Amino acid sequence: MELQKIVERCTDLYRDLDLKYVQEWKSKNSAHAIGYMPVYVPRELIHAAGILPVGIMGGGDETEIIRGDAYFQSYICRIPRSTIELGVLKKLACLDGMLFPAICDVIRNLSGMWKIMFPEVYVRYMDLPQDFHGAGHSFYRRDLEELKHDLEKISGRKITDDRLRQSIAAYNENREVIEALYTLRAEMPHLVPTHEVYLLLRVSNILEVNEHTKLMRSYMKVAKESNRPFRDCVRVVVSGAFCEQPPLNLVRGLESSGCYIVDDDWVLGARYNLKSIETAGDPMDALVKSYMHDTVSTASRYEQGNKKGKYLIELVKKRRAQGVIFAAPSFCDPALLERPMLQAVLTEEGIPHTGFKYAENTGQIQVIKEETGTFADSIKLWGTV
Ligand code: SF4
Repeated sequence: MELQKIVERCTDLYRDLDLKYVQEWKSKNSAHAIGYMPVYVPRELIHAAGILPVGIMGGGDETEIIRGDAYFQSYICRIPRSTIELGVLKKLACLDGMLFPAICDVIRNLSGMWKIMFPEVYVRYMDLPQDFHGAGHSFYRRDLEELKHDLEKISGRKITDDRLRQSIAAYNENREVIEALYTLRAEMPHLVPTHEVYLLLRVSNILEVNEHTKLMRSYMKVAKESNRPFRDCVRVVVSGAFCEQPPLNLVRGLESSGCYIVDDDWVLGARYNLKSIETAGDPMDALVKSYMHDTVSTASRYEQGNKKGKYLIELVKKRRAQGVIFAAPSFCDPALLERPMLQAVLTEEGIPHTGFKYAENTGQIQVIKEETGTFADSIKLWGTV
């Protein structure tokens, strides 16, 4: 497939708030679909039940919030309000259930509201453990067993160990290809612009995993063969955008302000497990162990004993980044509470950084572009800010 066609397909899927792909997939496969909020859910388990996992990331910049505002106070982020709006507008009606992973109080409250507002669909709050060395293991195992039981009931299909191993293998392959894409971008950022990587990651929320893997492989093949010119940009890591997503225009704006984004944490659920999950032995246990020990560092995970920001410094070194841009949704408690600690660590290490806040419908990006453009110029001129 040509580069332009791949990007157009991704853009169409990204803009498809009516989830037409999901509706068609369901009728073609006579199967169910279950939505999930950011950041992480065990998609392998959903897939093994023959159900399509569908990542929901709010209404973006094309949803006008009218009724959603009535359900929440104004001083919180936008994603819960736009998700409610989508629900009330019946745009999520093709989903047979919704999972709300423990990430912050807002998502917890949203799960309770969803139960009341949409009693006809399956709703589960996934109380992910924050103890990774003690009782967390058995706690999460029990949580997964309950989810497995519920998914089997919805789909009418038994999740055998073999089916689960196959699903784990499919997601392992998908993660490997995403990692290859991120490595390719870090090595040749002029050939792999971030707004395209962002679109490819966004559609991982919706496409069946094997179809998504195939699409990414096709993209990488044609992107490598493209002859896009090298530009004089500064290499940066973007941090803090793991839940509510920036609008596509803002991602483009960061690039056109003189930044090569060489790593980021948007659509983090697709990259949550850092290593391949074991496919030998007990697959449920493999899911638990991977969640406990082999996942990304992010503000929604409590990390006992780990130096705050260690992962960010390692990432900056790995990607040979020259600076960090903190981009977090307005009113996002996890990201904004962590930010000062990360900033302090970067300052200590002499790594330049700047930051801004956004909402999923931020329209005025000029001010942000000026800020990140000045940041990039300062690094180019003086190596610092
Ligand atoms: S954007 Fe932040 S505060 Fe809002 S739901 Fe997501 S994690 Fe919670």
